[in-house]
Amino acid sequence: MRVSIVGAGLGGLALAQGLRGAGIEAAVFERDPSIAARFQGYRLVLNPAGFQSVRDCLPPRWHPLLDEIVMDASAEQLVLDPQLNQIGRLGGGRTGIVVDRQVLRHLLLTGLDVHTDAALTGYDVKADGMVRARFARRDPVTADLLVGADGVASAVRGVLAPRTTPVDTGVRFVIGRTPLTGEFADLSKAYGSKITGDGVSLLLGAMRFRTPPKQAAERLAPDVSLPDIGDYVRWAMILPPNGSLEDATAQDAVLSRMRGWHPQLHALIEQADPDNTTLLSIRVVKPGERWAPGPVTLLGDAIHATSPTGGNGANTALRDADLLRRHLIEADQGRRNLLSAVGDYERQMFAYGTEAVRSSLEQLPAFAPEAQLS
Ligand SMILES: Cc1cc2nc3c(=O)[nH]c(=O)nc-3n(C[C@H](O)[C@H](O)[C@H](O)COP(=O)(O)OP(=O)(O)OC[C@H]3O[C@@H](n4cnc5c(N)ncnc54)[C@H](O)[C@@H]3O)c2cc1C
Repeated sequence: MRVSIVGAGLGGLALAQGLRGAGIEAAVFERDPSIAARFQGYRLVLNPAGFQSVRDCLPPRWHPLLDEIVMDASAEQLVLDPQLNQIGRLGGGRTGIVVDRQVLRHLLLTGLDVHTDAALTGYDVKADGMVRARFARRDPVTADLLVGADGVASAVRGVLAPRTTPVDTGVRFVIGRTPLTGEFADLSKAYGSKITGDGVSLLLGAMRFRTPPKQAAERLAPDVSLPDIGDYVRWAMILPPNGSLEDATAQDAVLSRMRGWHPQLHALIEQADPDNTTLLSIRVVKPGERWAPGPVTLLGDAIHATSPTGGNGANTALRDADLLRRHLIEADQGRRNLLSAVGDYERQMFAYGTEAVRSSLEQLPAFAPEAQLS
């Protein structure tokens, strides 16, 4: 069996690793000109099931490395004022495993057949049931199955389910990261918490690797090369309705909304790494329209993009990758046919994917009351 995967995000790469481990030919096609072409490095909280999914997609020899480049999530989730006084609670603390998306992505990329500068523009299903994917700047590729793991603006979804389009919630936020030096140790109460003031919210989260990723790879899996990054504080400011940066840099836009805030919070933003600071918008995709099972399917944000405040987008993308991998292995081994494997995957994925988007939107107003939810 030959599988073409469009999109080198967490979902597509996890699937490619899982198929490769089972001896199934899988090639990944990524639109970006290179793997490190843009900001990719925020921290993610995976729940135990999401973490198990990515673990199961990876070769067992890398499990000790995976376990060493994460941290346990144990944040309290308080609501603080700009002077760091507690004024409420956000709800139960989140438990799970914290990973750095960029580091995890590098691990997932190892040993894969990934083609960059390969933006999918369309595909054709041929008379023999195979699918031919077309790209902007490379020759078409034919496979038994095409998987659209190409994120919220999926080009594959544009052909397969054209009436399913992203909904812009209107919420904009600036996200960045700052090295976690001793100076910010006192902010620990604020990690996992929401700081509110002047119509904006600032969210902080720490990333403390059990072992720095580069060193962990050198010691535990010399065939893997991981980025040389240390512990950091991830911060995100949710802007007022339809917030824009108004020509300021992302950092300056955040600082301008923090006048009179605690000096440590100012210092945290001032010392941020500009290469890892950017403006993002929250768009969601609600799975609705169904299609007849065929040689093309979708996974991850391409079919169920959640609000990041739900903390479940990566978890759901990884669940998809693991579920689809298991079904495709059965098909490859002749235990079922490909279309029934894909159809069964889609039936389950639609059910939990729909619920993932719904629950993420339910949590959005606690962070952005003005969000447009329909
Ligand atoms: C700030 C932030 C924090 C988050 N925190 C969490 C969290 O704590 N827990 C959690 O579970 N989730 C979290 N998420 C959500 C999570 O990051 C996403 O749901 C997840 O990364 C989606 O993975 P994916 O593989 O489906 O898509 P993506 O990671 O978006 O990957 C899609 C890839 O497809 C490529 N592509 C797009 N179009 C084409 C094309 N035409 N041809 C070829 N390639 C293409 C893109 O360049 C990209 O590399 C967070 C998201 C954000 C923004």
